[in-house]
Amino acid sequence: METRRPHVRTIPVRCAPSQAPCPSCGKLGRRKATHRRRVCTIAYKQVVFLDITYGEYRARCSCCTTFRTTPPGVEPRAQYDNTVRQAVLDRILDDGMSVERVLASMRRDFLLDLSDGFVYDCLDWQARRLDLADHRRWVPTGEDRRQLRARLADRHQLSRFLLVHAPSFGAPIFGDRWHSPTRFCGSDGGR
Ligand SMILES: [Zn+2]
Repeated sequence: METRRPHVRTIPVRCAPSQAPCPSCGKLGRRKATHRRRVCTIAYKQVVFLDITYGEYRARCSCCTTFRTTPPGVEPRAQYDNTVRQAVLDRILDDGMSVERVLASMRRDFLLDLSDGFVYDCLDWQARRLDLADHRRWVPTGEDRRQLRARLADRHQLSRFLLVHAPSFGAPIFGDRWHSPTRFCGSDGGR
């Protein structure tokens, strides 16, 4: 059987102005170097990379000594851009796929060989985004975001959280793995 080589495309992206704002306080820093990194994005049946040129800046504030830029839609140090994360989340949250089916679907449609760890990272990313918008609804009194994130870093905790909050995500998640969901914020402290 003939195996066709996938079409590989590289898209150059530049985000290295001579000055850029500190990510914490916004004070402009001056560029001291430029670097390149390659990040995966998605296109149907294609292998597509973003070839990102970004800047390293000397800070003029006390938040940090240096910082780096990253283009919109790409998290710092991420290997995959946010369109990949969103495609994973759509499959889980909108289409109700299991992790295994998500991985197969991403491989078939976008030729991406993702790990189940990446799927959990995507869920954690989504949880953090919701956390910022809506965390007061479900964070027990006295628990701050930092503690909550530490708990969500545990995969089992995260899965439980998503089960409990499935209505806000729009789908039952990990239903095949977690037969008896325990309330994430319940008296057992999420254990
Ligand atoms: Zn700053």
